[in-house]
Amino acid sequence: QAKKAGGDRIATRDSHTQPAATARLNLESDLRLALGRNELSLHYQPVIDVKTGRPVGLEAFLRWEHPTLGLLQPASFISLAEDSGLIVPIGSWVLNQALQQTQHWRNTLPGAKDLTIFVNVSVRQLQDLRFVDTVRDALCTTGISPDAVTLEITESVLMDQRELPTAIVQGLHACGVGLAIDDFGTGYSSLSQLRWLSADTLKIDRSFVSELGYKDPSSASIIQLILGMARVLNLSVIAEGVETPTQLNQLRRLGVRHAQGYLWSTPVPAHEIPKQLQAHATEPTPRNAQPRELP
Ligand code: C2E
Ligand code: MG
Ligand code: MG
Ligand code: MG
Repeated sequence: QAKKAGGDRIATRDSHTQPAATARLNLESDLRLALGRNELSLHYQPVIDVKTGRPVGLEAFLRWEHPTLGLLQPASFISLAEDSGLIVPIGSWVLNQALQQTQHWRNTLPGAKDLTIFVNVSVRQLQDLRFVDTVRDALCTTGISPDAVTLEITESVLMDQRELPTAIVQGLHACGVGLAIDDFGTGYSSLSQLRWLSADTLKIDRSFVSELGYKDPSSASIIQLILGMARVLNLSVIAEGVETPTQLNQLRRLGVRHAQGYLWSTPVPAHEIPKQLQAHATEPTPRNAQPRELP
């Protein structure tokens, strides 16, 4: 294992016997420094109104420019951040950065005054009552309207309500921010759990979207079921991971109103967002993308 610059870590001693554990320890101590070293950044992906083809919101995704490993995706460090507790300060940075950036775009870009922002939140962040203060502070310092902010919580959180104290849920509702259930359909949340959380949005997991268009019609049926449930509970729905025009057309036919995915854009660095929003703002809806009128 390569020794990193300045990395006189005790842990490297074990690198022959426990390479994976050592790598993790190294990565953890690097992550501890990442915030202060300005190595974290957010990438943004538009949430599209499929009727108009226009971006109505953005989802923020964390990226880590590691000094030697290069740009890291959340899969390689989020669980580490969660287990070490580092997700608390990092998550607070994410929230402030995303809200500040979005408020700046709302104030300065033509046609972006109602832009909304979706921020992913880990269970670990939701277990400390101070998280509600973090949210309130971020709203205050950035001046963004709480209506414009939705926090995304993965569905698995709902499966064990002890993970998510009621006081925190109530505190977040009192702040006025929206709650979305991420990766919906992959867990086993019940209607009563959904009602208890009183979320605003369900995000249909990418796995259902990616199976659309294949012979097996079950994912279309599942999406239909989610839409029906959302209607009853008065929730909005966003389809995640839309990659092909076929998937988009099917989603439209099923009545999905909002979507995101590589079909429109991968998550991009903040500096690319103004030109993306601009391009979309002037681009007419393609003829073959005309939505079917829905009741
Ligand atoms: P998620 O919130 O469900 O995000 C969707 C993931 O799918 C993102 O990966 C996104 O880049 C990717 N994606 C978007 N469109 C497509 C598509 O059309 N096709 C495919 N194949 N993938 C697509 P990413 O950025 O690697 O994030 C992975 C997960 O890490 C996120 O899942 C979220 O749970 C977590 N995460 C990301 N940023 C943060 C953060 O700031 N805080 C916390 N707590 N978790 C985060
Ligand atoms: Mg998400
Ligand atoms: Mg998701
Ligand atoms: Mg997720």
